[in-house]
Amino acid sequence: MPLQPETLKSLVKAAAEQVIASAPELTALDQAIGDGDHGSNMKRGFEAVLGKLDTIGAQPLDEAFKTIGKTLVMTVGGASGPLYGSFFLAVGEALRGKQLPDDLADVFGCGVGAVSVRGRSQAGEKTMLDVLLPVLETLRAEAARPDLIELVRATATKAVARTVPMQATKGRASFLGARSVGHVDPGARSSCVLVHAVCNSLEARQ
Ligand code: ADP
Ligand code: MG
Repeated sequence: MPLQPETLKSLVKAAAEQVIASAPELTALDQAIGDGDHGSNMKRGFEAVLGKLDTIGAQPLDEAFKTIGKTLVMTVGGASGPLYGSFFLAVGEALRGKQLPDDLADVFGCGVGAVSVRGRSQAGEKTMLDVLLPVLETLRAEAARPDLIELVRATATKAVARTVPMQATKGRASFLGARSVGHVDPGARSSCVLVHAVCNSLEARQ
């Protein structure tokens, strides 16, 4: 059965609440290799999304994702606002003529592609893409697995840990050069929080 707007509403609520609850952790990570605002940026953005939950739940799926994207672009700020905004806007665009969950990997891929274009970034640069790309790979390669949710969750967790030895070459952390090594990337962690929240919420509905 295609994803219903009501289901999307509960997924968005769970994801937003989880990001908001993770704000202190995201702040601490960004204090280590950035300017310490990632937690407050994400909290502000997802509080604004929560404020639009009824609108989001009443819209067709493609419009709902665009509303999320626009809200994040307008409220998150920093480098991550336009990047997460681009992700959701591109997902909304991609959803025209496509359906969830059938076209999940394609649609998610469009979101990830938009982050990469907007950020001029790729794998291995110690950014949110170092979680988003491996998750996309799992969605593509393991789509038929009955334990897909568990695999996606594990992929995201491992991908965050793999950012620790990376040296940042994009974003604020790149200013630190070799001193960016030895820390988790804040955006990679926030992407993991979002992925986990969606996985947990989908699992709870099964
Ligand atoms: P700022 O760096 O402007 O303070 P945030 O602290 O909110 O913004 O977000 C930082 C996160 O944004 C980084 O941890 C990284 O994951 C992500 N990021 C920064 N630049 C890029 C980029 N060019 N491509 C992808 N992700 C990026
Ligand atoms: Mg920051």
